[in-house]
Amino acid sequence: MKVYKFGGASVKDASGVRNVERIVRMAINDPMVHGLMVVVSAMGKTTNALERVVDYLAEGHEDKALAQWVDVFDYHVAIMRELGLQPGVDIRLQGEIPYDPTLPYDENYDQVVSTGELLSSQIIAVYLLKQGLSVEWWNIPKLLRTDATWREAKVDDETSRAVITAGWNRPNRPQVVVTQGFIGGTKDGKRTTLGREGSDYTAALLGNYLDAESVTIWKDVPGILNADPRIEPNTILIPSLRYMDAVELANSGAQVMHPKSIRPLENKHIPLLVKPFGDPQAAGSRIADDGVGPIGVPVYIWRKNQILITMRAKDFAFVLEESLSEIFDIIHRHRLKVSLIQSSAVTISVCVDNTRFVPAAIEELQEHFNVSYNDHLSLLTIRGTTPEILENAKAGRTIMLSQTTRRTARLVVKESDI
Ligand code: ASP
Ligand code: MG
Repeated sequence: MKVYKFGGASVKDASGVRNVERIVRMAINDPMVHGLMVVVSAMGKTTNALERVVDYLAEGHEDKALAQWVDVFDYHVAIMRELGLQPGVDIRLQGEIPYDPTLPYDENYDQVVSTGELLSSQIIAVYLLKQGLSVEWWNIPKLLRTDATWREAKVDDETSRAVITAGWNRPNRPQVVVTQGFIGGTKDGKRTTLGREGSDYTAALLGNYLDAESVTIWKDVPGILNADPRIEPNTILIPSLRYMDAVELANSGAQVMHPKSIRPLENKHIPLLVKPFGDPQAAGSRIADDGVGPIGVPVYIWRKNQILITMRAKDFAFVLEESLSEIFDIIHRHRLKVSLIQSSAVTISVCVDNTRFVPAAIEELQEHFNVSYNDHLSLLTIRGTTPEILENAKAGRTIMLSQTTRRTARLVVKESDI
């Protein structure tokens, strides 16, 4: 069997959904393919829109929340109509916002935001069915079991694997199954989410459980490129990679796949293909055991929305190194994601993703250290750098911090200078 994952940019409109049909047909017309698991993200920018719904409700702006919620539905209804589907008849529409003011923000977030994937997957499943394909829709919150760490739920592999393989290996299962990426569910039936951009991770887990021949991520780029084409003028396609290089790329912030999506595939030696949605015959990139490495071209990876936090000992009698474990304990408890660390005798600087958890962490750090910080920063990692490449990258940019090893350079750059 194969797993195909379609991201939000691919299924943002009716023509995207028609292209999904074309790609799905190509797969199942191959006599070697006995089943296809299709994992979809929310359409277009739906996840962001639903996040706004939750924010408005949390701030008490019910009118704005409702208007945004209605917008989301109007957008989907327009796509359904264009595809010849009848809203409310072919696809169930949830009228009420699944929000309960007595529950914590994060729990509400998961209930509301998960509706994006539920909608997109139903539209795609019903559309494929109406085109005469053998299709079944799976409600993954009932199958992919997670704990209740809202917004970053941890998957219970054992339970999920058992339920999902049983469903897949059922006699007379339709050839194509369409389900949601990014979301799961707790044992008491609450929906959870796995972290933004988590659909790749879902696809990798399903590939692992079902021993897929391969997992393909269909993207709006030709494959894995050595740089972001919106920033660097000349990008190069990397046709073949090893898992370990892909993990490094993903962890340094390459937008091309979710960092957690590599391990489940590597464990079972399942190739991960990244292919262009607009040109399905193209080879794209392939990450596998026999991948070529190290990557032969310099790779530029931007990690956006960073904040650089510097801690200085409050009195010189005490050595900062001794408080490392304290610092990292605070960082860990506040769920900060560290992208770079640098220390001197009297200071420690950490570059972290500037998430909503940062202010509380800074407050706690301030109890123990003199803390200063800069935000609106990006971290540029250049792998396979040379002195010349590094000079070019620094030119015209304010560098807040730089760190270089033999082949890798990391620059913390002001966002306005990108
Ligand atoms: N729709 C979710 C998001 O935008 C998951 C995904 O696209 O992978 O974060
Ligand atoms: Mg998305």
